[in-house]
Amino acid sequence: MKDRTLLMIPGPIEFEPEVLAALGAPTTSHVDPDFIEVFGQALERMREVWLCPSGQPFVVAGSGMLAMEMAVANLIEPGDKVLVLSTGVFGDRYGELLSLYNAEVTVLRAPLGDTIALEEVEAALKANSYKLITFTHVDTSTGVRVDVKSLGDLGRKYGVLTVLDGVCSVAGEELHQEEWGIDVVLTASQKAIGVPPGLALMVVSPRALAAWRERKAPVASYYMDWNNWLPIMEAYEARRPSYFGTPPVNSIFALNVSLGQILAEGMSERFARHRKLGTACKAAIRALGMSQVSTNSAHAAATLTAPYYPEGIVGSEFLPRVKAASAILAGGLHPEIKARYFRIGHMGATNPGDLLATIGAIETGLRSCGYDCELGAGVAAAQQTLNS
Ligand code: PMP
Repeated sequence: MKDRTLLMIPGPIEFEPEVLAALGAPTTSHVDPDFIEVFGQALERMREVWLCPSGQPFVVAGSGMLAMEMAVANLIEPGDKVLVLSTGVFGDRYGELLSLYNAEVTVLRAPLGDTIALEEVEAALKANSYKLITFTHVDTSTGVRVDVKSLGDLGRKYGVLTVLDGVCSVAGEELHQEEWGIDVVLTASQKAIGVPPGLALMVVSPRALAAWRERKAPVASYYMDWNNWLPIMEAYEARRPSYFGTPPVNSIFALNVSLGQILAEGMSERFARHRKLGTACKAAIRALGMSQVSTNSAHAAATLTAPYYPEGIVGSEFLPRVKAASAILAGGLHPEIKARYFRIGHMGATNPGDLLATIGAIETGLRSCGYDCELGAGVAAAQQTLNS
């Protein structure tokens, strides 16, 4: 039997063979003309994927945490006021990170599984003059998606810089950076961008670059300083050799392949596909009698689903059984409910067949743990959505 266990966690995910082939190809010099062309093209393609024609893309070796920190290191000076909207673990992390940079941080925390009412955000912006507001498009610990477009409107209305953690959303959830007025949209390679872990990616608006240029204090990090990276990004885009730190050559070749695939699919088609997969997975979970961490389907993510275990089911027994049935899922992450739920990622290369196989594996896992569900009920519910 073909050994093909699906990696269905919320990142890293299943990757396209062409992307993996680029990673395994012979490494070139970082100033080889072929690489310069590919890096330049990848930067141009990022603007199209982020839907931000006037933005400045950055590609740096690192994970999503580096991208989060890089935005803060460059935009925040000690004493700056920042409003953090937290819909889970990653929102809370932004608060911690900002405090380390001596920002004056106010955290608005959503009730578990919920979002923060826009009126509450607006009241906070009215009451205080913030330099910057951060929010997480999809918090991977809860599967909650926030209303980025409305938050972008508020950012512009109150003259506040907006920083979006799009690690679990970019190239999966609908996002129009420029039209929606978001100043920094950051992500990592291993989720809907479709490239193995290793790249921190972001696109920065002209307004944010202007704020960075006006800062008084120097950036307190050498590696993350845009002063070091901006000339490099500009040089590659102008197809000129350049060097600050050795770029992850193979990862950037792989990134360009994946961005090409994403654009060939089309952004609106890609957003719609993710929405459909997300809706289908959630329908299956409901059909199997499970509830979800996100309390309102209107703000449940397209890129992942976070179901609570049924009564009596324990993750340490259930997850290995699902794996034995060929799908790897993730356990819980949010400290308040860590042992009570699990997470299914369905983004990037995930196709309807992968999702159906995963739901089948979940049914098998549930049954073998003694849960009384009808085999096929989840698959049928997902099929209804996928075929609608
Ligand atoms: N933000 C969000 C929303 C995430 O899901 C993650 C990763 N799970 C991160 C930030 C951090 O990314 P990384 O693990 O690549 O550092």
